Amino acid sequence: MIRYCCLLLLLVTHFAAANTVILEDGQKIQLGQQIEYLKDADGMLSIDQVRALDDAQWQTSEQDILNFGYTSATYWLRFSLSHAGSAAERHLLEIAYPVLDQIDTFIYRDGVLQNHFEMGDRLPFHARPIEHPHFVIPLALPPHQDTEIYLRVQSSSSVQVPMAIWHGDALLEHSYVEALGRALFYGAMLVMAIYNLLIFVSVRETSYLWYVLHVTATLFLLASMQGVTFQLLWPESTVWNDRVLLVALSGMLSFPCMFVRSFLKIPQSRPKLARVLLVLGGLGLVTTAGAFVLPYRIMIVGMLLCIIVVIMCCLWAGIVRWRDGFHAAKFYLSAWIFLLMGGILVISNKMGMLPRNWLTENAAQLGAGAEIVLLSFALAYRMNHERQMRNQAQKESADAQRRLLEHQMQANEELDRIVRERTEALEQANAQLTKISSTDALTGVMNRRALDSLFELEYKRAYRDKSPIAIIMIDLDHFKQINDTHGHHVGDLCLARAAEIIRSCIRRPPDNCARWGGEEFVVLLPNTDLDGAVTVAETIIAKFAESRVCHDELSLKMAASMGAASHVPQDAAGREDLLKQADELLYVAKANGRNRVEFDNPRKRTANN
Ligand code: GH3
Ligand code: MG
Ligand code: MG
Repeated sequence: MIRYCCLLLLLVTHFAAANTVILEDGQKIQLGQQIEYLKDADGMLSIDQVRALDDAQWQTSEQDILNFGYTSATYWLRFSLSHAGSAAERHLLEIAYPVLDQIDTFIYRDGVLQNHFEMGDRLPFHARPIEHPHFVIPLALPPHQDTEIYLRVQSSSSVQVPMAIWHGDALLEHSYVEALGRALFYGAMLVMAIYNLLIFVSVRETSYLWYVLHVTATLFLLASMQGVTFQLLWPESTVWNDRVLLVALSGMLSFPCMFVRSFLKIPQSRPKLARVLLVLGGLGLVTTAGAFVLPYRIMIVGMLLCIIVVIMCCLWAGIVRWRDGFHAAKFYLSAWIFLLMGGILVISNKMGMLPRNWLTENAAQLGAGAEIVLLSFALAYRMNHERQMRNQAQKESADAQRRLLEHQMQANEELDRIVRERTEALEQANAQLTKISSTDALTGVMNRRALDSLFELEYKRAYRDKSPIAIIMIDLDHFKQINDTHGHHVGDLCLARAAEIIRSCIRRPPDNCARWGGEEFVVLLPNTDLDGAVTVAETIIAKFAESRVCHDELSLKMAASMGAASHVPQDAAGREDLLKQADELLYVAKANGRNRVEFDNPRKRTANN
């Protein structure tokens, strides 16, 4: 009996010491400084032992939201509630930190245990008294009666205990609005991921794949931190749920590194930095494996430190590439700064350096959301910029090709012109040479070699056509005498004049004459029979007769003897015979008194008769 009285006294003292929260009409009361807490370093105390402890052992919270940071200790919390209304009312106690491992709640009224709830993410989701992403306990509070609540909290994650008492179903209404906001956020992120995945499928640019993986990891991390994945995706898998945060964090380690490498084209510009990023990216695989075997606390602290290194590296990469003049880097950097700010707020909060409030609570979501949107913009900007650069390069290349083509065409035209000019000059020179080599310099008529060629040609044609061809062999009479009497110079004048006379007597196009040598000339008459040849010879004789060579006071008369021969070629080699015949006839003419033409019968004519 005495023992019972002592215990009652002790309990009354406890009640008096604990701050009592008076519940008025209203929606929500945030619990903070009303809470007393006790550190149970090795977690061995039972509820009865805790209740039996001296008040001095309890500390009053100075924080609005209790935050003990990463600790292996177990924390006991207590507070009492009093309800000022007239009838029994339903309230809900919310602990808004879904990653706590264990929360044992003991509800006492008048020193008697009314209810005991075991919660925490080590238990299946459906074991919760109220299915909500946060931990929620129903409280049936009778009026004007104190209800004392003890909580035993233990977690390998950061120990934060944001608590609130909600009146009636206000929490569920509030949760509905909050869930709507989250659904919008997750929906938007999911759309970003799917949209960029489709872009990746169509353009095959790896930056998009890393971006999609990064968005997915971010989404999982946030959803896990907010208790949504546990509720919706794996409500029974407590082990996996405990580790999913580490797996998502591993993704947050790897994917940004790989994204940055690819997006900023680091391997092409900074091989060393590319290797560092690859190692950090690969570290994500190690931490994923480690998540399932190593203690959570070691992993989470180690990974948070790794993530700080990753953020710094990625930030550094962005600054470096920006300074390189890589345009998309500035959008990338602004995205990264948002994530960094969010990360700093979250980590500071988790480490217990910043209080838990709306900003620190939503910093990750806000930072990640801004980052994801800005990165998507950066990707689009980079793609657009690269397309512009490609177009410009193509245009420049096309311009260069066009200019090259123009140059080539100009060069070709120039070459053509030069070749044409040279060819013309060469042809002229050749024609000149041919003319020189085929012309007798003194008289201007063909020389013997040219006549030989022409005769060969015409003889063959006559042979083919079975037509006659004639030769007149001409030798000036007593020419030596002219030379001897009047000098060589006058002789030359006479030769030139003789050629002129002979040429003037042959008018048909195929006829031609040549200087055969000395004062001898030959007239070639294709398609001409002996009659025709004799007629031409006689014309020449007549012309000589009427011509004079005048020099100073001299006026000389010239005459010539000729042998005319013609035949229809019987074989191609008969032309020597024709020449020989004409030559022999010339000698006959000389012998017969000169200044005459001799030819073979049938009829004989002389120039003089
Ligand atoms: P014939 O009536 O028997 O033919 O007597 P000819 O004096 O004309 O004959 P000949 O063969 O004895 O003399 C030919 C002369 O022609 C010898 C040479 O002085 C002269 N002669 C040959 N070629 C040239 C030349 O190119 N220029 C000059 N001025 N005289 C030449
Ligand atoms: Mg002679
Ligand atoms: Mg002579």
